[in-house]
Amino acid sequence: MTKPANSFDVAIIGGGHNGLVAAALLSKAGRRVVVCEALPHFGSASQTSTLMPGMRVPQCAHVVTGFPASLIRKLKLKRHGLKVLQKNMPRVALDPDGRHIPLGSSSKTTTEAIFHWSSRDAEAWKRFSTRLDALTAALLPLYTGNAPELVPAAFDDKLSWLRLYARERRRGRASFQNLLKQMPSNVADFLDLALETDLLKGALALEASLGSYHGPSAPGSMFYWAWQRASEASSRSGTLQVVGGPAALTDALTSAAASTDADLRVAAPVASIRIENDAAVGLVLENGDEISAPCIISTVSPKTTFLNLVGARQLDTGLVLDLENIRMRGASAKVNLALKQLPTFAKADEALLSGRLLLAPSLMDVERASNGQKYAELPHLPVMEVTLPSVLDESLTPEGRHVLSAVIPFVPFDVEGGWDAAKDKLTSQVIKTLGDYAPDLPDLIMAHETLTPPEIEARCGIEKADWHQGEIAFDQALMMRPVPQLANNRGPLKGLIAGGAGAHPGGGLTGRPALNAVDAALHFTKEQRR
Ligand SMILES: Cc1cc2nc3c(=O)[nH]c(=O)nc-3n(C[C@H](O)[C@H](O)[C@H](O)COP(=O)(O)OP(=O)(O)OC[C@H]3O[C@@H](n4cnc5c(N)ncnc54)[C@H](O)[C@@H]3O)c2cc1C
Repeated sequence: MTKPANSFDVAIIGGGHNGLVAAALLSKAGRRVVVCEALPHFGSASQTSTLMPGMRVPQCAHVVTGFPASLIRKLKLKRHGLKVLQKNMPRVALDPDGRHIPLGSSSKTTTEAIFHWSSRDAEAWKRFSTRLDALTAALLPLYTGNAPELVPAAFDDKLSWLRLYARERRRGRASFQNLLKQMPSNVADFLDLALETDLLKGALALEASLGSYHGPSAPGSMFYWAWQRASEASSRSGTLQVVGGPAALTDALTSAAASTDADLRVAAPVASIRIENDAAVGLVLENGDEISAPCIISTVSPKTTFLNLVGARQLDTGLVLDLENIRMRGASAKVNLALKQLPTFAKADEALLSGRLLLAPSLMDVERASNGQKYAELPHLPVMEVTLPSVLDESLTPEGRHVLSAVIPFVPFDVEGGWDAAKDKLTSQVIKTLGDYAPDLPDLIMAHETLTPPEIEARCGIEKADWHQGEIAFDQALMMRPVPQLANNRGPLKGLIAGGAGAHPGGGLTGRPALNAVDAALHFTKEQRR
């Protein structure tokens, strides 16, 4: 029997990269799938801005972090147009005077660069990175796949705890103690105890804070850093630069999903999720259209999904309270520039400038920058991660011209005095800081774009401009994510699955939450067919 036009096996809310990954995988597996995206375009953060004719720049997200190579293969994304320019994109601690420290290259190159600053740190670097890598490695098995269950009932869940325990036992008592000691601690102490070079500590503290609300002195910031490193390490290719920027990932995913007949709808905001007898039965769109589907994957934040789209009336009071208490507060802005030519950074060749440039003179500068947002103020001296994607990607600009993309952390969503007054100030501060590193840069600007956190929410659909749809912290991670009652999609409402950044393991262009959601949806729809 053919199904009516608005009847599907799985309906997906949100067409960011997680929604598209889920759509492509499920339709490839033979499920009838619809995606409803509120904005007039797919891809949320993975869009391109045209700053002026012929000059394109990644609008919000500028690199693809931790997207599994196996998923690129499985969805044949290269056949759908994805071209990888760089794998394991290196990071660089940028120095205005040219004494840069490349962080992601071979340890030898890093150690030599550090030696110019401090022989003590050059000697300490190997020990330091080994300790940091050990923390990352300990979290990696928790990052991929479902979160371990708090009270394991199934044999597989018990086994996963045992495996974890056995792995840590094998590493030895010291490693296990290190893990327990460091995870609740803070980045600033970890860096201060091991290293003395301001530039190195500043860059590492910035790396550790990207996408987080907190600065490096916050308790638990070590967990966030190690978790983000696990995210990168979860793909053998680490962080990717792709031709055309992250928007090319959106395009390839859209094409892959369309090729298997997924129904992809933009400008289709979902008003509510229909629930009957504690089970999801479909969606109601804002234009009144109804879609019926026994399985819904929501890639909108769990807070909005359950409290607004389902409605508190359908939920227990305890669950409502926990959902209301999820901390979701993004604090990133974006500044994009079109440049007449490549700016002159001291002693930096194109190879160095094709990496992720960390502009943070010291740990204290990162900490100070993080303070303002607590009081709804702009950072006095912004720190930032900068990429110059056109150094390698000729598709973005005419020959000789360049674009620059800067992610600015610690920018409050609501700013004292309002954004009308603060936006130009933020832009000027960022350009001034960039000018400290490349003095000719301010005169090379042909066009610019600043996206404040509220604009990131409105234009990219990222709620509260929060990278993770809910802070990644001990009490909001793993089996506590998004809240304990909903972990691993074992919520009270049958068929309703969380598949966006707000679910385990969190945000970034990793596709991981979608992979977990797809497993749950395949399992659910198989059961339904029996
Ligand atoms: C400034 C900034 C820079 C970043 N840079 C990077 C980076 O360089 N690399 C990286 O890996 N990550 C980066 N991130 C993080 C990354 O963008 C997010 O983690 C990622 O977008 C999460 O994807 P998602 O698909 O889970 O959810 P989202 O991207 O939040 O997508 C959710 C989608 O749902 C849609 N939607 C919302 N409500 C409805 C509704 N009612 N009906 C229908 N649709 C709806 C939204 O419009 C949106 O398209 C950055 C984030 C920010 C804010």
